[in-house]
Amino acid sequence: MTIEISNVTKHYGSFEALKDISLNIPKGELVALLGPSGSGKTTLLRMIAGLESIEEGTISFDGSDLTDKHVNQRDVGFVFQHYALFKHMTVFDNIAFGLNVRKKRLRPSKKEIEVKVNELLELVKLSGFAKRYPGQLSGGQRQRVALARALAVEPQMLLLDEPFGALDAKVRKELRSWLRKLHNEINVTSVFVTHDQEEALDVADRIVIMNNGKIEQIGTPSEVYDNPASPFVYDFLGNVNLFHGRLHKGKLNLGYAQFDAPDYLDAMDKNAVGYVRPYQLNIEREKKSVDAIATKVYFIHSIGPKWHIELKREDSDTYVEVELNKAEHAQLDLTVGEVVYVRPKEMKVFIPEDF
Ligand code: ATP
Repeated sequence: MTIEISNVTKHYGSFEALKDISLNIPKGELVALLGPSGSGKTTLLRMIAGLESIEEGTISFDGSDLTDKHVNQRDVGFVFQHYALFKHMTVFDNIAFGLNVRKKRLRPSKKEIEVKVNELLELVKLSGFAKRYPGQLSGGQRQRVALARALAVEPQMLLLDEPFGALDAKVRKELRSWLRKLHNEINVTSVFVTHDQEEALDVADRIVIMNNGKIEQIGTPSEVYDNPASPFVYDFLGNVNLFHGRLHKGKLNLGYAQFDAPDYLDAMDKNAVGYVRPYQLNIEREKKSVDAIATKVYFIHSIGPKWHIELKREDSDTYVEVELNKAEHAQLDLTVGEVVYVRPKEMKVFIPEDF
């Protein structure tokens, strides 16, 4: 099922929770709504589900306008952060519940229900758990049961609100790669809400980055990570080094170092900020060019196979973070306290609105 959201707006009293949201989700895509707390992710998900009224704009599924259709008339499966399983029912009965209720008209036989539930248990890798009660399962297992229950009615669309939010980091990681594989298998159009950047980058086909009720950017994980559309996206998606300077004649000038700015900023003469991710910086022992920044090695530590080098700038009290792989780190053989030069492999330049 395709989902088309056009110019949707939502107020809670005088507060504008969603501002003119437009988004198209093609059939079979797994989309993450990513943003900080309060950015409007859940509100948007609830509107897609039909749990919130729409004041302005439209939401269509497969081309037909569902703006005024009740939640029961939308073919949607839900999974929420807090499992919401029925505690007094076995795993089997929890999964069969949806079948019994939603498919009443079809009146599936006991045998048909059994076959379907067993298929679903296999799909979520919980065969053999049918007779357990939710209290006898781990958090991750419970969430897989919740997913099986949502899938039992064969929804055209799956909506997940922070489905792994209540689980510990290790289980979250396992479940998200599992969800990715499951989605490849069942291919149902899915929208999931998360405030975890890594989760969205890992799992989604496309990410919708939200801030203050607005969409900041829509793109594949590599598009939003490597080519952020705004300083907010850059900052929100991970470690970033900021260089405040003056944009003049196509160069961002920091005083003693300068960088090329994109062509469209050529004619501007303004304060501006350069943004560089830690992996986009080279470290050199000598100043070889105008875009090299003098720093002193402050701290060196490894995170898994990567090395993180913290450098203190010689001209200011700010720090620069560089990420090196093992070979680069071994070749440089840095010592805390020595002076080195950092040079961006590429520098993006923004003019923040409040400058
Ligand atoms: P979180 O990650 O914290 O769940 P979110 O991005 O999902 O945040 P929403 O739950 O969509 O954000 O909320 C968006 C804004 O709307 C917030 O400022 C919130 O306080 C407000 N809001 C949400 N629901 C209501 C409501 N029923 N009445 C009034 N304000 C609301």
